[in-house]
Amino acid sequence: MATVKLKNLFKKYDESEIFSVNNADFTIADKEFVVLVGPSGCGKSTTLRMIAGLETITDGQIFIDDELVNDIPSKDRNIAMVFQNYALYPHMTVFDNMGFGLKIRKFPKKEIEERVNAAAKTLDISELLKRKPKQLSGGQRQRVAVGRAIVRQPKVFLFDEPLSNLDAKLRVQMRSEIISLHRRLEATMVYVTHDQVEAMTMGDRIVVMKDGFIQQIGTPLELYNTPKNLFVAGFIGSPPMNFINVKIVKKDGKLHVDAGVFSLALDKGTVEKMSAFEGKSLIMGLRPEDIHDNHEKTDSHPGFNSDVDIIEPLGAETYVHFKTGGIAFMGKFRAITLAKAGSPSWPVAFDMSKARFFDPAQDSSPSIF
Ligand code: ADP
Ligand code: MG
Repeated sequence: MATVKLKNLFKKYDESEIFSVNNADFTIADKEFVVLVGPSGCGKSTTLRMIAGLETITDGQIFIDDELVNDIPSKDRNIAMVFQNYALYPHMTVFDNMGFGLKIRKFPKKEIEERVNAAAKTLDISELLKRKPKQLSGGQRQRVAVGRAIVRQPKVFLFDEPLSNLDAKLRVQMRSEIISLHRRLEATMVYVTHDQVEAMTMGDRIVVMKDGFIQQIGTPLELYNTPKNLFVAGFIGSPPMNFINVKIVKKDGKLHVDAGVFSLALDKGTVEKMSAFEGKSLIMGLRPEDIHDNHEKTDSHPGFNSDVDIIEPLGAETYVHFKTGGIAFMGKFRAITLAKAGSPSWPVAFDMSKARFFDPAQDSSPSIF
């Protein structure tokens, strides 16, 4: 059992003018896998390090299992942290690296052996126990670092960008290993990354941060389908959401979005909410998969013709970049689209029921729809 509760948490470093973490306030449930994600410098590591007790808290409270831990030293919090740089002792064997935390806590030799051997088996590194870190590959070192955390049997696991030093293929493999480890250990885990794909694929819930402020907390699909602001909309999803400047206008008695080169009727489901914005300039967001190829004129969504700029054939699908009258957007089409780079006036259809609308003033302004 371990919940982690952050209560109005603030952090300002002594030498800094601004707060690196502003009013972080959320609870990580027992056995939950929560990912903190955001661009470099947004305060992810600072938040994690405060949970770990490696950084002082400027204001607010942290509870682990309802126990206030603000003044409890890191070593007594029963948490284990895995870092990006592994932080292994170069002169020690893998076995000694993994057992070190237990040794300094005066665990009996036999129990250390049992726990290290069990963790090594879980991580498939039993045959490496006698080696030194320099005799290991990056992926093996990372496993040792995770093993060192597992043997502690901590209440909470904290990971700070643990996969960032690995090559792309190994990263994907370790990603699924950590997910399955989470399932097997049934442990509470907090995982920091700047990579939104890692966040989306790993997290039960994701906390999106920017400039020290939490932008949104939700499941991967909540963030994907209902981003709360322009920042989250642009950050989550790959390829990213298209943003087009539009004006809400009335035409023939119906509300339209007018982008200059095209004007499309709003979806029935959005009309009521959007009527308050008639005459206003907004940003419309539409994901690439909601822009359809309408070459066969079969699509029932409203559309218009646009010039094709670039084509990216990926095999299973094709990314088609359009540029027309000063606006650019990208559609994710089937692999067999006939659109070619430079094709003029290609018919596209927009699934307006999926359109999101944002205030252009600030990327942290709440979304309109
Ligand atoms: P992230 O992990 O999201 O990349 P950090 O939590 O490391 O971001 O940093 C958040 C902000 O706090 C950044 O502006 C960073 O420069 C600042 N910061 C981090 N550590 C220190 C420190 N020890 N002293 C002063 N400022 C720091
Ligand atoms: Mg960091």
